[in-house]
Amino acid sequence: MEPKFRTLKGMHDLLPDFHDYFTFIKKVARHRCRQNGIKRITTPILEKADLFRKTIGENTDVIEKEFYVFKDKNDDMIALRPEGTAGAVRSYIEHALYNEVQPIMFYYIGPMFRRDRPQKGRFRQFNSFGVEIFGKQDPAVDAELIILADTVFTDLGLKKDLKLKINSIGCQKCRKKYIQDLKDFYIGHQRNLCADCQNRLDQNPLRLLDCKEEDCQILAKIAPKMKDNLCEDCDMHYTTVKKYLDELNITYMEEPTLVRGLDYYTKTVFEFYYGKYELALGGGGRYDYLVEMLGGPDTPAVGFGFGIERIVECMKDANIKVATKDFVDVFVVQLGEKAKIEAMKLLFELRNEGIKSRGLFGNDSIKAQLRVADKLQAKYAIVIGEIEVRDNIVMFRDMQNGSQESIKRDELLPKLLKLLNANIDKI
Ligand code: AMP
Repeated sequence: MEPKFRTLKGMHDLLPDFHDYFTFIKKVARHRCRQNGIKRITTPILEKADLFRKTIGENTDVIEKEFYVFKDKNDDMIALRPEGTAGAVRSYIEHALYNEVQPIMFYYIGPMFRRDRPQKGRFRQFNSFGVEIFGKQDPAVDAELIILADTVFTDLGLKKDLKLKINSIGCQKCRKKYIQDLKDFYIGHQRNLCADCQNRLDQNPLRLLDCKEEDCQILAKIAPKMKDNLCEDCDMHYTTVKKYLDELNITYMEEPTLVRGLDYYTKTVFEFYYGKYELALGGGGRYDYLVEMLGGPDTPAVGFGFGIERIVECMKDANIKVATKDFVDVFVVQLGEKAKIEAMKLLFELRNEGIKSRGLFGNDSIKAQLRVADKLQAKYAIVIGEIEVRDNIVMFRDMQNGSQESIKRDELLPKLLKLLNANIDKI
């Protein structure tokens, strides 16, 4: 049947199979963040459009091409958030968290919106896991954050084909001179640039370095390197981050063309990739000017953001299976009105004991109900008919081997609890 309504272009439903992965990723993220003393924050999906324009920068793809922005009924321009950092920074300032003991460490998990060109692995609504740390300039914080990301990927089973690339894009002081050098270099090669990069040359020359067009990449390889232009402070910071990563045996590659798409980064930038096609999982870096830029006090900060759909894609490609808790322990089969009431009571009792149980109400035959139990891969089926109600017994069926026995009703719960002990799922 042709559906009357479909998801919007680039939007997608997250079906139960995806949620098995999503739940696992959230669990790992939460567990590792807790271990690091990082607490969860959720900011609204809608924010003032200017918040993103100011933080991400007008001359970025995210704002120029992919921004979901609307006029509200009171004529305010509001936007669906394209990333998580801007909201976290706004929240840090709005709640004056700079007055509390620093660093303040947040993590978030939630949907982001970018009107990207829909293609494999690119959606207009996708989910992100990110961490932001405010209030410490120490390169140890950058290293710690990178190590946290690396640990999360290890837990998810992706370590084997994981690649970490790092770079430093300096500070306002040293970057200014570097950008001029970069412009001077590219002006001589303007003819060889793609149309987008021709525009970027004026607006956002750093972005020329991470263009995916082949000719632009060739030029990026021979363009001046930020690394050679870092001021003493930035150079020391970068060297120290690398030293800490070395000390902790984190493998990385220095990538002089890594700049990240967003304007607000300073000093350390990093990105994680997976597999032989180097699919970008996400990355982050330091953004020491952003809090002040948005009206807060001078506060150094560092963070990362990863795309959950991308991570799931990699896990599936790598054949990584995750345990699901969405299975059925017990299926209750009933026939007749009295048996139906008995079945409802039993299901209530079972669920209160933490036993995952289902029934199929309706007028299906016992055979049909058992077929459903089989399809759902229930471990045990309990059959209740009029006779069972009258005699206070139940038919206990082991769905794996098909054996069946009649047992006393009050023996049922202790028997199931014993059999399912390891799986009991209490809140
Ligand atoms: P960015 O902030 O652009 O570096 O993006 C961070 C990460 O978010 C990327 O590496 C992807 O994993 C994910 N991501 C960004 N845009 C999309 C999208 N349109 N669809 C799915 N994931 C995305």
